[in-house]
Amino acid sequence: MSQTYIAEQNEVETALQLEALNNPKARQQLLAIAEVTSDWIWITDEAHRFVYVSPKVYDHIKLRPESLVGRRRSECFNAVNDDNLQYLTSLVSRELPFRCCEYSWIGEDDEEYFVEVSGTPLRHPDGRFAGYIGSGRCITSQIRREKELESAHVELEKRATTDSLTGLYNRDYFTWKLRALCQAGERSFILILTDLDRFKRINDTYGHQVGDQALVTFAQRLKSIARAEDFVCRLGGDEFALLVLTDPLTGAEALAERILRNAHFDMDVNDQKLRVSASFGMDGYKKGSTKRCSETLISNADFALYRAKASGRGQVIRFNRALENGRREELDLILELNEAIDNNKTSACFQAIVDLKTGKNTALEALARWTRKDGTPVPPGEFIAIAEAQSLIDQLGLSTFEQAADAAASIDASVSVSVNLSAAQLGDGEFVRQFERRIKTSNLEAHRFWFEVTENVCFDNDEAVLSDLQRLADLGATVALDDFGAGHSSLFCIKHFPFTVIKLDRAFLTDLHDERSRGILEAVCTMSRALGVKMVAEGIENHEQLRLVKEFGIDMAQGYFFQRPIPLSEYLQLERAESAA
Ligand code: C2E
Ligand code: CA
Ligand code: CA
Repeated sequence: MSQTYIAEQNEVETALQLEALNNPKARQQLLAIAEVTSDWIWITDEAHRFVYVSPKVYDHIKLRPESLVGRRRSECFNAVNDDNLQYLTSLVSRELPFRCCEYSWIGEDDEEYFVEVSGTPLRHPDGRFAGYIGSGRCITSQIRREKELESAHVELEKRATTDSLTGLYNRDYFTWKLRALCQAGERSFILILTDLDRFKRINDTYGHQVGDQALVTFAQRLKSIARAEDFVCRLGGDEFALLVLTDPLTGAEALAERILRNAHFDMDVNDQKLRVSASFGMDGYKKGSTKRCSETLISNADFALYRAKASGRGQVIRFNRALENGRREELDLILELNEAIDNNKTSACFQAIVDLKTGKNTALEALARWTRKDGTPVPPGEFIAIAEAQSLIDQLGLSTFEQAADAAASIDASVSVSVNLSAAQLGDGEFVRQFERRIKTSNLEAHRFWFEVTENVCFDNDEAVLSDLQRLADLGATVALDDFGAGHSSLFCIKHFPFTVIKLDRAFLTDLHDERSRGILEAVCTMSRALGVKMVAEGIENHEQLRLVKEFGIDMAQGYFFQRPIPLSEYLQLERAESAA
């Protein structure tokens, strides 16, 4: 604006002489111009009163020229006091020319109108100010269009960067923002990646509406954890990301605490409480650091998240050097396990469960086995935890179950097969359906199957898990509580779930010299008998342990003393040898 101002000051020299307008020829020319131009022409006197306004003003702003003549601009237009108008007034008060000054006013119809006016001062021959001559045009529709375009642009921009379900920023925005923060290097921040625990289960069991509600509530929780300056984004599905503008060294701990306090919640679904939790992985960026680019931060936070998932639900894990060291190997392991599970390269070994009264095998427990390409066997405790964290457990569990069913079809019909189930395989009805399908298509009776679950299935108090276990029991399978005594040893669990077999953890036997352990075992035996639940002692390795177990009146036992876990072919050989003897 200041540039226009200087240019216009020079024009003062070329200001029109009022006398020139008094010349009849000039006057005629002016009227002719007023006729052909699309703008309206106006002239004011030295007191800023209109002395002439061309008829075109009516076409533009529906004001009759005669209603304006004799009045000042301020009397005719109840102008909205905006910056432009002030600018115009300041030029006019100094008798300077003005060009394309916009101002707006509220018309009688309460609509806002916009006008653009230009004017040049008129002077008497002695240089005295005589008024202004100028033109005006209505730019209301142009301004409205510009405003519409602008708001459409804002809306489009919002849509392009926002997730429609939660109103959080979307993945595109997140990627851009993270890159921008790293490139600028001016602020320290913490990147957090998070996803809901068992979200697929919530969706499959309770429907998408409940799933969406969980996502929206979780989004609100994340917003409450972050501050206004932070960025909370939904990356898709149940994956979210936070960019928290705080120092990773000093702020991470408090942030993790805030997350643990606020992120998890209960939802009321069909008169039941559904616990919704999430796992979190973080990595930090220190201001000015050039080492860590956005890709590294994402992959570190993602690895920490994966670790959080693997170490149980509802955890927050920070990426650190120790994680980094084991990382390459672990990532390779994950990839190889993925491939093995996809190609059915995991196998099962079988270990007998012996009836202590008859000395005969009652069941064979199927134990998953996986050997890496380089020939190293991986302990099941390790690869099963990975499969659970990577959502591969359904596939792995099903493969072990199918191998157990194959075994059931080929071994003596008086022996059942026992299959370990992870909590993650239960609750959506899918495993139960697979089981029903298999017993139908292979003519195997349901009572030939045991399913072993550990206590943790009880703690979520998840009705859907209970109902899957109940369905398995109703179909005729045996549902066994595994590893009793290794964890909480909850009696609640025994009472409320359809267990008909309890497997006592190996730890119970090793502790039996201890008076208190013996007391507990006695109590458990008494209660089991009262409930009609059978007991299996696990991990029998020698005569002495077997003697003790028998002394307690325990029904069945399992352990290296009887048989190590072996492939089915080996077991069948033993069976044949026994029947031949
Ligand atoms: P688990 O269900 O408690 O299985 C018994 C474990 O104890 C097996 O370990 C078995 O080899 C071992 N064991 C048996 N007898 C003895 C003994 O006398 N002494 C000693 N020291 N150990 C004995 P394994 O095969 O390494 O399996 C470990 C765990 O992995 C299993 O514990 C089970 O929780 C899990 N697992 C194995 N296969 C599967 C599967 O297909 N699905 C699921 N969800 N979990 C599985
Ligand atoms: Ca087991
Ligand atoms: Ca066990």
